[in-house]
Amino acid sequence: MKFRIFWAILACKVLTGILRLFGRGGTAIPGKLALQMCPQLLGELAKDVHCVVITGTNGKTTSARMIEEIFAKAKTSYFANRSGANLIGGITAEFVEHSTMRGKPLKKYAIIECDEAASKEVCRYLDPDCILVTNVFRDQLDRFGDVSNTLESILLGIYNSPHAKVCLNADCPLTSSLANRIDNTVFFYGVDTSIYKSPVSEIDEAAYCPRCKVEYEYSYRTFGYLGGFYCPKCGTKREWPIIAVSEIKDCGLDTTKVKMRIFNEYADATINLPGAYNIYNAIGAMAVSQAMLIDPFASINALSTFSCGFGRMEQFDMGQSKARMILVKNATGFNQVINYLSELTDKTLFVCCINDNTGDGTDISWIWDVRFERLAELTELFGEIYVSGIRRDDMAVRLKYAGIPTEHIRVFDNYDELIKSISSQELPVVIAPTYSAMMELRAKMSAAFGGKDFWE
Ligand SMILES: [Zn+2]
Repeated sequence: MKFRIFWAILACKVLTGILRLFGRGGTAIPGKLALQMCPQLLGELAKDVHCVVITGTNGKTTSARMIEEIFAKAKTSYFANRSGANLIGGITAEFVEHSTMRGKPLKKYAIIECDEAASKEVCRYLDPDCILVTNVFRDQLDRFGDVSNTLESILLGIYNSPHAKVCLNADCPLTSSLANRIDNTVFFYGVDTSIYKSPVSEIDEAAYCPRCKVEYEYSYRTFGYLGGFYCPKCGTKREWPIIAVSEIKDCGLDTTKVKMRIFNEYADATINLPGAYNIYNAIGAMAVSQAMLIDPFASINALSTFSCGFGRMEQFDMGQSKARMILVKNATGFNQVINYLSELTDKTLFVCCINDNTGDGTDISWIWDVRFERLAELTELFGEIYVSGIRRDDMAVRLKYAGIPTEHIRVFDNYDELIKSISSQELPVVIAPTYSAMMELRAKMSAAFGGKDFWE
């Protein structure tokens, strides 16, 4: 066994090194190879590491980065799978990187973002101290499937984590329903109040009481089907969260000021990111910090200095103006970008890059569930909208149907032209790319305007 572990670690480390040499970091291949050589490898490497696992449909990466900031500020020794490789191969490679050749851990904690479907297997090996479930929404990949599959996968992950404290989003009816089916200690977190004055309404995003099969009603909604839900028939209702955002003080361009309730204490907090979804990411990260017994005020402080690295909300300084990049992967997430855009006060250039590669989901019909109609109402704010990516033509059609005049839609056949065009004008830019479009754009933007490779 010891030899097997040694050779598997060696192979993984060497292959990771070689791939990086060729500029291909953050892939799952070395980890997969190591698992083939030693199937028990992940369990062996994780044995003496305290693990936090983050799963759910939206917000995994940003939540993980916030938790990381909290751990960093608390001066704990940790590592994280920052590259977004969140299946068992990528996670194994990350553990190998933070182990000695004999498989002894170099860090005390691991912050692991994990795909919902992979959580069952990953959790069995990691035996985590804490699991955060962000939310359960329909993703593009299971558009015609059933969210209950996602929910069951997460549940199996929790079943395989008997020692974990489980942090559940109280405002998400599906996520919070997990509490009835597990024996773990649960930390509910949530937002006690609505966030936007008039959030865009979601299509087909209804949640039903599992007992009565009637649609939930709401005392308030935050976005999607998140909020103060209750069943008009049996009285089932949102659980009272012990860690919550109790008041939204100011939704700014770059930050959100809120009041938080942590157990029975109140504190002001600044979340160094805009948007309703980031309020949830922040309060979820706070729940984890409390489950892991980290000082709440130090944690709040970490949220105010947090800056996002990879993906979700990243900034590029283009000299004359700034570009913000927000990953989109489904209608719910994109509607949040629309909510964010409609709160802007300065004229802005909006760019949409839609691909249909495997990483994006090959079915892009969800763009018809995004409320682009709201953008058509905001012509003062958005003169032109730029469109690029493999499915640029579909996107242009969608915008046209939303009521945006054809002469305001500019289609770019390649990213070089797109980048040239956005960097030569003075308006602030918001770019919404799907996953593979983001990877490509990001590499080009980093080369043009600076920025680190994401696995650094
Ligand atoms: Zn009911």
